[in-house]
Amino acid sequence: MNYISTRGAGAGERHTFSDILLGGLAKDGGLYLPAAYPRVSADELARWRALSYADLAYEILSKFSDDIPADDLRDLTRRTYTPQTYCNVRDDEQAAQITPLKTLGVENGAPLSLLELSNGPTLAFKDMAMQLLGNLFEYTLAKHGQTLNILGATSGDTGSAAEYAMRGKRGIRVFMLSPHKKMSAFQTAQMYSLQDPNIFNIAIEGVFDDCQDIVKAVSNDHAFKAAHKIGTVNSINWARVVAQVVYYFKGYFAATKSNDERVSFTVPSGNFGNVCAGHIARMMGLPIEKLVVATNENDVLDEFFRTGIYRVRKSAETYHTSSPSMDISKASNFERFVFDLLGRDPARVLQLFRDVEEKGGFDLAASGDFARVKEFGFVSGSSTHADRVDAIRDVFEQYDTMIDTHTADGLKVAREHLQAGIPMIVLETAQPIKFGETIREALLREPERPAAFVGLEALPQRFEVLPADAQHVKAFVASKTGA
Ligand SMILES: *Cc1c(COP(=O)(O)O)cnc(C)c1O
Repeated sequence: MNYISTRGAGAGERHTFSDILLGGLAKDGGLYLPAAYPRVSADELARWRALSYADLAYEILSKFSDDIPADDLRDLTRRTYTPQTYCNVRDDEQAAQITPLKTLGVENGAPLSLLELSNGPTLAFKDMAMQLLGNLFEYTLAKHGQTLNILGATSGDTGSAAEYAMRGKRGIRVFMLSPHKKMSAFQTAQMYSLQDPNIFNIAIEGVFDDCQDIVKAVSNDHAFKAAHKIGTVNSINWARVVAQVVYYFKGYFAATKSNDERVSFTVPSGNFGNVCAGHIARMMGLPIEKLVVATNENDVLDEFFRTGIYRVRKSAETYHTSSPSMDISKASNFERFVFDLLGRDPARVLQLFRDVEEKGGFDLAASGDFARVKEFGFVSGSSTHADRVDAIRDVFEQYDTMIDTHTADGLKVAREHLQAGIPMIVLETAQPIKFGETIREALLREPERPAAFVGLEALPQRFEVLPADAQHVKAFVASKTGA
């Protein structure tokens, strides 16, 4: 499997899965994609139906990472996708499924269900990919005798998923910046209660943007970056995207009886990583009818799929909402889909994303390419705070099921795209306990708390408070990496 950049540089070079695993953007600023998507045969699809999650993950990943020996990859997936790691299930009997399908009911003739992706250690779907990444990083670094210091900024989900994936891993340290006293008590406790010596929580005296600016400043110091082997685990990481392909297959098998049926998925979206994985599953041959992109008030993606206009937002136009993990101003994985939409023409992708940088967006409305969005199965919708509150209340009353704010955005939009006879699977991206304030508002009661999280906020916390200044952060990192 060879990987290419969406912007076309180094077209003659070979990049394996392992080559791009630890890197970020391609050197021309593009994103990596396989030179061609592997197709799944009818025989394979039939055989995969019976597999465990771990073995299904092996089958799918092996098509994208032929440079990793089969036995090693099988061992990695079996160690990653265990009922012990994905133990925070609603129903204990479902733990072996890793991503159980929770049936709600039939609406407008369409069976409606939730695919539970948030039963991992941090109760958000990011664990699905990040746990694999932790094991893949450790494996690859050990093979090449290397070490890695991950530097990141978080306002919640990503940072904690990265820490829980990398804790205790040989050859890896995590330096995670978060805004001091600005996260919820639950999220703070989730991260800061980790006592592993390779995890460093840095509470920055500032806001989330300050944390992000510091990460950028450190990453732009190329000498420091090289000397201290600084890397990232952001959402453009290819391995994260491909790990997410697995649960589209798993969800399909759970919602259907035979491989002649089609299903639709609704995906609460921010950086377009999750739904990009759905697109890839469809390109591999999974019978997907529609991919419904659900946004909150930050509707960059909904606007594109409705109008053909992609217009990134300024920070002043980016709203802080009650589904905060979808509060984005631009969608960092979107370029991967645009590459396919334009018939894989890197010169045009380069031009469009130059326009994004220089003019703040692009307009495909008049071009024939936009009409092809439907051929790829994409439709969209957006949601507001009032919609979320209604959806949470309604699902609780009708189906006795508590959902989080992001899943509620998905459910609201899914209901606008139901088709009789076609199962609609809404991806559940987080558990309600992470966003308790809105649950209390909607239901006038406390969110459900998985047993493992009882007393979390009372655990001792380990973190370092630093001023919002890159020099202080560099000095701290240097003192711990000893280079
Ligand atoms: C990250 C996240 C999303 C958005 O996923 P993308 O891959 O960025 O589109 C949605 N919901 C939750 C709970 C998340 O943590």
